[in-house]
Amino acid sequence: MLRLLFLNYIYLKQVKRVIGEFSQSTDGPVFIAIAGIHGNELAGVSALYRLFQQLSFMQPKFNGTFIGIAGNLRAINAGKRYISIDLNRQWYAEKVNYLERAPKYLLQVSEDVEQKELITLLKRLLRRYKKENINLLDLHTTSSEGGAFCIANADSRAQDLAKSLHVPVIVGLEKVIIGTTMNYFTSLDLPAFGFEAGEHYDWQSVIRMEAAIWKCLVKLGCINQKDVPLYDYYDDVLMQLSLKNNKVAHKIADKLDTNKVLELCYRHVIMPDQNFEMKPNYLNFQPIEKGEVLANDVNGPIKSPLNGMMLMPLYQKQGNDGFFIVRPT
Ligand SMILES: [Zn+2]
Repeated sequence: MLRLLFLNYIYLKQVKRVIGEFSQSTDGPVFIAIAGIHGNELAGVSALYRLFQQLSFMQPKFNGTFIGIAGNLRAINAGKRYISIDLNRQWYAEKVNYLERAPKYLLQVSEDVEQKELITLLKRLLRRYKKENINLLDLHTTSSEGGAFCIANADSRAQDLAKSLHVPVIVGLEKVIIGTTMNYFTSLDLPAFGFEAGEHYDWQSVIRMEAAIWKCLVKLGCINQKDVPLYDYYDDVLMQLSLKNNKVAHKIADKLDTNKVLELCYRHVIMPDQNFEMKPNYLNFQPIEKGEVLANDVNGPIKSPLNGMMLMPLYQKQGNDGFFIVRPT
């Protein structure tokens, strides 16, 4: 954790909207990675800075373009998840349409300004590159421990890329939640997946993100596998996160086809002033049973509505999602 803070101390002093861009041609695949849509999730910002430094030092033969973007800049600099509202819940059509039309100087909410800047940047990239070449990755970390995973949209290119990382792949996000960046990328008809790399302050989360990005760049044909330093090590790093190797999920994972994707089936929404408190020690992919008490709030115990596996239990103050439940498709 100290090392992560140290790195962030160096980088975040001068964080820019475009963290880096590496290209040797305007043709070829375009891989866009976004970090820090949640401002307290600094591992992705660190990982991107480190990757662009390595690329510019190594100058490998590179096909296409790799771009790294900072999400909620003002929240990143303030060290907060968000300033006023969760930027990862604002990407529904009405809001996006409104922000596209509204002049920036009229926007009062910090996240509205952030969102408008991000929309403008993405639209500029969509004009610059062929749409069919673009792939998006949204980097996140969680407040709970217990393994990394991908959340992919319905585009088979995104799911194939996510599956190549060997970590559990979850689909169906758009059915239980609206307004995430993923919903927006889907509305633009772009392949996109989110990578949840682990716990916010775990130094390994940075390594996992670097591993995931290098693997994506190889899989997309941007860079030769032999030109990636430590490629086999990165493969091992991610392999350890497969469901079979997950310390809590392995018992049921043995029964699962590891190539099978999991579906997001349930989201517990926290309303204001409900004093939501998650029961301690839940981990991602921990098997849970229908009727099991998962949390408490002012209305009493909150029980699981179905059998499945726990995902993203909330162990931080900010956030509206108490927990999610996933099941094999
Ligand atoms: Zn996040």
